[in-house]
Amino acid sequence: MNTPARSNLDLVTALQDAERRYTENNPLSKQRFPQACEHLPGGNTRSLMYFSPFPLTIKRGEGAKLWDIDGHCYSDFLGEYSAGLYGHSHPKIVTAIQQALADGFLFGGPNLYETRLAELICERFPSCEMVRFCNSGTEANLLALTAARAITGRSHTLVFQGAYHGSLLYFGHGGETMQAPYPTVSAVYNDLPGTLAVIEQHAKDLAAILLEPMMGAAGCIQADKEFLQALRDTATKHGIILIFDEVMTSRLGPGGLQERLGIIPDMSTFGKYLGGGLTFGALGGREHLMARFDARRPDALTHSGTYNNNIPTMAAGVAGLTDVFTAEVARSFNAAADAFRERLNGIARQHQVRAQFTGVGSLLAMHFTDQPIRCPQDVDNGSAPELRTLFHLFMLEQGFYMARRGYMTLSLPLEASDYDGFAKAFEEFVSLHGHLW
Ligand code: PLP
Repeated sequence: MNTPARSNLDLVTALQDAERRYTENNPLSKQRFPQACEHLPGGNTRSLMYFSPFPLTIKRGEGAKLWDIDGHCYSDFLGEYSAGLYGHSHPKIVTAIQQALADGFLFGGPNLYETRLAELICERFPSCEMVRFCNSGTEANLLALTAARAITGRSHTLVFQGAYHGSLLYFGHGGETMQAPYPTVSAVYNDLPGTLAVIEQHAKDLAAILLEPMMGAAGCIQADKEFLQALRDTATKHGIILIFDEVMTSRLGPGGLQERLGIIPDMSTFGKYLGGGLTFGALGGREHLMARFDARRPDALTHSGTYNNNIPTMAAGVAGLTDVFTAEVARSFNAAADAFRERLNGIARQHQVRAQFTGVGSLLAMHFTDQPIRCPQDVDNGSAPELRTLFHLFMLEQGFYMARRGYMTLSLPLEASDYDGFAKAFEEFVSLHGHLW
């Protein structure tokens, strides 16, 4: 790919140059986009997939590499928004799926894989004594909220402003119109006094507190441990069900972020890589809560779903946790990822640019500010959208695939050369464009 010229005087010119080069470099993706728009509104079926001037169409993936239809090869630093922990077509996952498929895959009855995957998840995650499977992280959170309301007989959920808990559970700008109609009250992430005040005010109506122990989509924003601990204590005091959405963060240690932080919720929701990279969701929790799903009980909560125990997902999930993402790998991989984030932050400091990579372990996000980021409100700043676009197009041009908003998730097959290449490209970006903000 072309190296960008060192001639950019201002942000507008730099962006125009970058978009022109992107358009010239990707004629087939450009050509495909209006075709896709004919039958898919906006040319896709996942809103997030769109970015200007048009998204790349991906043709193939292998290990940590992706190829688009114009033939460019990328190191994949997006990792399918964290579902792609195992990389593309990991041989052990593929073999497990193939072997399982050979015996048939639509049984209409319990199968052996679901029991094993449930056992593995309960062994790993401290909050899980029992688990229910579903088909996505969104569904897992809808299930958690519905169950919490049924169990407590209360109506409301405390959520955090800017949080993303799935396609129908987005509590940020513009999310309201497509929100599932659950009554909520909201607070600011990491604002302990403000949050406790909201809880005290609404305690008798609160069925649940729903939050990620690190906000992922909102910008990889870590929670203060004291904040989470206080939520744990106050939830217990008022009989509110504390739900950790670990759809993304469950990969940050053998037992997720809950184990890493030593703060154990009443329920946890999961998704993404835990199904081996196939469609997956799960709700886990304490036995006294989860037992309400027991169909033998007269007061059982019903919860069905044709694909809840689908064979390919169950088999892939088992293979992933037993043969690939073992507890040791979870630890060493995330430790190496912490070092990588530090390396990138070191480059920003060395070049004295106002930029930082936030996150924990293998989930990280780039921000164009050197101020502390403690809640989504800290992420929004002036010219960031244009800078994010410039950075994204620059990194694509250098062969690194990531999200427009600066979000990245690392996958197991990434190699030293990928990490070195990314760090070098970031350094080039700040050398070339660091004067623009
Ligand atoms: N919860 C969190 C924290 C997520 O990041 C996501 C997806 O990115 C979801 C829930 C929704 O998962 P899914 O896309 O599988 O519905």
